[in-house]
Amino acid sequence: MAESKTLGEVLNAADGYLKGKGIENARLISELLASRLLNCRRLELCLNFKTVLSEKQLAAMRRGIKRAADGEPVQYITGDTEFMGHVFKVDKRALIPRPETELLVEKVLQCELLSGKSEVHPVVVDIGTGSGCIIISIALAKPGGRYLGLDISAEAIKLAQENAAALGAGPEVAFACAELPDILDPETVDVIVANPPYIPTAEYKALPVHIRDHEPTTALDGGPDGLDVMRMIIQDSAMALKPGGFLFLEIGHQQAGAVKTLLEEAGIRHIETCKDLNGRDRIVTGRLAG
Ligand code: GLN
Repeated sequence: MAESKTLGEVLNAADGYLKGKGIENARLISELLASRLLNCRRLELCLNFKTVLSEKQLAAMRRGIKRAADGEPVQYITGDTEFMGHVFKVDKRALIPRPETELLVEKVLQCELLSGKSEVHPVVVDIGTGSGCIIISIALAKPGGRYLGLDISAEAIKLAQENAAALGAGPEVAFACAELPDILDPETVDVIVANPPYIPTAEYKALPVHIRDHEPTTALDGGPDGLDVMRMIIQDSAMALKPGGFLFLEIGHQQAGAVKTLLEEAGIRHIETCKDLNGRDRIVTGRLAG
């Protein structure tokens, strides 16, 4: 990259360098870093290909490319990512929000308590809130409810609070470093949503380095069959939900059958599975009997 000066040249050099290091999506990563640097949208970069970068900009770009070449996810380098049309701050305190989790949020928003002109002010709890992307997106879309994001990581809770403040979420959105039974009485919650760690440990160990070495293990590794945390969440939810309350879970694509059994054992009815954009089982929903 030493000789490169214009944006076009820098992007080509960065792309080639990252590819040479075996990094996937090298062009996309280079463009995301450059658009952050030039404070423009990625699609606008082509208008600036002939722009000559300053020494400072070149140095910053080199730093970013070096981190990406070491396998760090680009969202941690730029410090943000888009989710449900909002820009969330992300760093190693929490999982990077994934596109498939948008489907989970969309399903919650379609729930009869949150859709339409419902007069009720539902209590909605997000277990394992991480960056807060799920509960904040729901709250911004439906300001009428009461929203609580829980996480056992105090660092993640701080990040979620920073996101809520930056995105202008109101006082109806709160966070706590706690597990569900510590903080809520039985039969008090209308809607529970969770994207728990669900990857079986053996599969987790085989994940690409940019995920395994950078994102929190506790956000991804779900134990021997991937369902350790899922089991707890389902049991806790069956206690905390009001009769007829709604549960929304993101799952691994081979877990629909096992999760359905766990839900049935816990008294959850009307169980449905939804597929992600790749046609794989990804979301399971149900209602507590009552
Ligand atoms: N709720 C956060 C998300 O969906 C974090 C999930 C997790 O840590 N497993 O991105």
